[in-house]
Amino acid sequence: MKRFFSLIFLIGVLLCGCAKASEPVRQTVFCMDTVMDLQVWGKDAEAAIQQLTNKLNTLEHSWSATNPDSLLSRINRGEAPELTQEQAQLLARIEALSQRTDGAFDPHLRALSEAWGFYGEEPSVPSPEEITAALAQSQWDLGAALKGYAGQECADLLAEWNVDRAMLVLGGNVQTYGEKPDGSPWQIGIQNPDGGDNLGILCVTGTASVVTSGDYQRYFEVDGLRYHHILDSKTGYPADSGLRSVTIVCRDGLTADCLSTALFVMGLEKAAEFWKESDDFEAVFVTTGGAIYATEGAVLSGCSYEVIAR
Ligand code: AMP
Ligand code: MG
Repeated sequence: MKRFFSLIFLIGVLLCGCAKASEPVRQTVFCMDTVMDLQVWGKDAEAAIQQLTNKLNTLEHSWSATNPDSLLSRINRGEAPELTQEQAQLLARIEALSQRTDGAFDPHLRALSEAWGFYGEEPSVPSPEEITAALAQSQWDLGAALKGYAGQECADLLAEWNVDRAMLVLGGNVQTYGEKPDGSPWQIGIQNPDGGDNLGILCVTGTASVVTSGDYQRYFEVDGLRYHHILDSKTGYPADSGLRSVTIVCRDGLTADCLSTALFVMGLEKAAEFWKESDDFEAVFVTTGGAIYATEGAVLSGCSYEVIAR
């Protein structure tokens, strides 16, 4: 009888242990002008999450386009601050991604975003002269790239800790890390641009970046017209490409973020061509007509959609 109770006790302890290990350490952070939700599972989760928070704050401090003390603001003022190898590499990679997308992703639109008032509380439509003047300037704004890069940096940091897995939601960006214990994929909702239930579920395995650019993430309306924050450097106006959102799945966070913005600006047809010439990402598109398109490697469920094949 005693042995029986010991056995029950032991099973109880094991079950408690399992339950505890299956609970994530969770932290909400406000950083990079958005709410971030960090969930980390595993032995070192508590310490790792602290390091992630520090990393996110450090990246914001360096690369904010609005904080006058940031490294980026100093570069934008024409100073030549000394950059670490990592910082110089980041800017070089961003330039390369801009070239890869033929300028659809343009990291030098700070003055244009400012002219539209997107950094402040009350955005408004600038005059054509203001747009022309803003387009003539070239100041860095990493708003379309930084959260994806940050997600990747966090995943790289997690690899140095004894943690099992993590799900980091950085605004519209999701960074997964590791595998779920039952081997099932991570499930990430494709948001309905008009709000309400998700349109569908995107499944990804292992460590990946899932980044969405959408016209519903930051916008204002005048006379029934919506002006959103993803700008077309060819016109100076919000990209009018027939898309409501683009979601990119990629093993690299920076690439995912830059491409989500770029493909939104390109529109479906050009974006599909761009994907056919690439081999490092998958994409899901929601059009202004409400149709959903997904490249053939994207695993999407819960909605009907058209597949874009190679
Ligand atoms: P995302 O939500 O990743 O598409 O990034 C949008 C943010 O990037 C905006 O809030 C601007 O700060 C900046 N941005 C706007 N248009 C562009 C563009 N065409 N290329 C690069 N950055 C942009
Ligand atoms: Mg982006």
